Amino acid sequence: MNKPRHPLDKPSRSARSVSAGSALGPGYSAANSNTRIHGPRPFTLPSNSAKPPAAPATVNLGLNSDRLRLQMVQRLREQGITDERVLSAMQAVPRHVFVDQGLASRAYEDAALPIGYGQTISQPWVVAHMLAVMSDGRTPERVLEIGAGCGYQAAVLAQFVPEVYAIERVRGLYEQARLNLAQGRARGRVRLTFGDGMQGLEHRAPFDGIVVAAAGVKIPEVLLHQLAVGARLIAPEGAAHQRLILIERTGPSSWHRLELEDVRFVPLRPGTQT
Ligand code: SAH
Repeated sequence: MNKPRHPLDKPSRSARSVSAGSALGPGYSAANSNTRIHGPRPFTLPSNSAKPPAAPATVNLGLNSDRLRLQMVQRLREQGITDERVLSAMQAVPRHVFVDQGLASRAYEDAALPIGYGQTISQPWVVAHMLAVMSDGRTPERVLEIGAGCGYQAAVLAQFVPEVYAIERVRGLYEQARLNLAQGRARGRVRLTFGDGMQGLEHRAPFDGIVVAAAGVKIPEVLLHQLAVGARLIAPEGAAHQRLILIERTGPSSWHRLELEDVRFVPLRPGTQT
């Protein structure tokens, strides 16, 4: 196929292999996947509370979760998240519903957590930051998420975006996300697709925002063409060294690219997994 030149072509980063490691997959752990590595405003918990209090196993987290979410949102504010739409969306969505029951008591820590199939639910700060940057100064009506995972980020998006499309390539996670979205106050608000998000969703384009939750060595070019003019895409990019990249479509054939924080995401993979 005669591919047009990538609109943001630049010398590609060298892709070094990552070392084998955890149950999450080579080089990834619950502590380092879909998380920020360093930030301009490093956040430290007060020394006498290294971790948010974990709910006793016998307590129904559903009853406690409003308070735990309030603490999570307070932490996000302290970490520099200011977009009230995003903060109230994070307050509204019960993150514990999107993780395995055994991890529910940790759902409001500022950490990525395993969701099976070697994937993770993104760190709350990462979710909040990506959504805030994507929608900054805009009122997106139609947004695409690539890498729905367990559905959490899509549910958060659906609190303030009327039309949310989300794609997941792992069949088991796609099915899990459907169940979670039904329980997580996002029933019917997220249109979930099982497929390869590297192709985007041509028949629903253009989008007022695109959020990619897995890192490709390079951001797929096709996605840039599915952005509306003026809209923004946010995605991690890179292999061993990854960065969050913000791309704004500034015209029919012009895009502006900005490199943000160092992050560690699970990989963006082609095709589907059944
Ligand atoms: N959005 C999630 C994060 C999930 S982790 C959250 O709310 O926390 C990233 C997800 O991207 C994984 O589930 C992985 O299977 C998926 N993924 C990777 N490559 C993909 C592709 N090409 N298309 C769709 N999903 C993809």
